[in-house]
Amino acid sequence: MLLLNPGPVTLTESVRSSLLQPDLCHRESEFFDLQDEIKMRILKVYALDPAEWAAVLITGSGTAAVESMLAALIPKTGRLLIVENGVYGDRIAQIAAQYDIVHTRIVGDWMQEPNLDVIAAELDATPKDQRFTHLAMVHHETTTGRLNDLHSLSKLCRERGIKLLVDAVSSFGAEPLDFSDESLVGIAATANKCLHAVPGVSFVIVRRSALIQATCRTYYLDLVRLVRLQDQRNTPFTPAVHAYYALAAALREFEKQGGRSARYQHYSALAEQVRTGMEALGIESVIPISQSSVVLRAYRLPTGLTYARLHDALKAEGFVIYAGQGDLSKTLFRISTMGNLTAADICRLLEGVAKVIEPKDELTFT
Ligand SMILES: *Cc1c(COP(=O)(O)O)cnc(C)c1O
Repeated sequence: MLLLNPGPVTLTESVRSSLLQPDLCHRESEFFDLQDEIKMRILKVYALDPAEWAAVLITGSGTAAVESMLAALIPKTGRLLIVENGVYGDRIAQIAAQYDIVHTRIVGDWMQEPNLDVIAAELDATPKDQRFTHLAMVHHETTTGRLNDLHSLSKLCRERGIKLLVDAVSSFGAEPLDFSDESLVGIAATANKCLHAVPGVSFVIVRRSALIQATCRTYYLDLVRLVRLQDQRNTPFTPAVHAYYALAAALREFEKQGGRSARYQHYSALAEQVRTGMEALGIESVIPISQSSVVLRAYRLPTGLTYARLHDALKAEGFVIYAGQGDLSKTLFRISTMGNLTAADICRLLEGVAKVIEPKDELTFT
């Protein structure tokens, strides 16, 4: 079965077999070697300086990393502006509410780019003593496959001395991220999306200077304690040891395959193959190509075809596709090109789709 959902992804054999390494106690030096290696390789993905940035590992899914980042990096006196255009932006707002973080939401149309004029107006409208200190947003909004324009948003932040927190859970490892941007203080990501490891480990990359102002609102997800202990080759709790094995193997493979830009090129080729193939079958992509990620794209369900029928037919051919979230499940479906996939796999997928919508035609995709 090939997984075309946005994580967990189809594994390579080397990552899968890495799970079968010897049992390991998380208080032994071998575990801390593994932890150090993972932290080092995560920073290498975007060539980050370990003196300036810390990669902090968390046992939990991607949401745990987003939650840890938000709970720590907005001081008690801080004010957060949340820019939303999908399910994961909404989740940031739910987390902020959970921790009583003072926040305002700008909820945009899920099918549109964030409106920079509206955001700038909001940032400038508040009285001086109530200025926003932080802005949080999703980089790749997996709800629709939209790649939000971090570059323009961070410019608004830089001009006003506002710090930027990014959910890059479904873009880290493939899409470009500009860590030289001085407004950027934290990004959250996970092992089992563009890095091709297994679920169980997520991480925050935090600018070390931002830790001075950090606060503690949560016990298990306390980012400051996690950084401190991991810097000392330690860990507060039992980590998902086997998921660490897989993440180290996946990161080694990632480097061998040419790193972040090679992964971007690979995804980009597959995503375009899907898009042009779907177009030939009369199935439109939902987001303009210039605003789309290479990681996942959403397509409009052809009239008369339900998601359930498409899903079940493709599952019978060996592919798991993904529904739209909420009301979007009636109108669209999603195809992710993360994981161990090849152009030949995409050809077979498109032949499968052709069979569902035009059962009599013999279409081939090469
Ligand atoms: C997958 C994802 C998450 C986290 O989901 P988990 O199920 O907790 O791993 C968060 N944000 C985005 C943008 C995602 O795509």
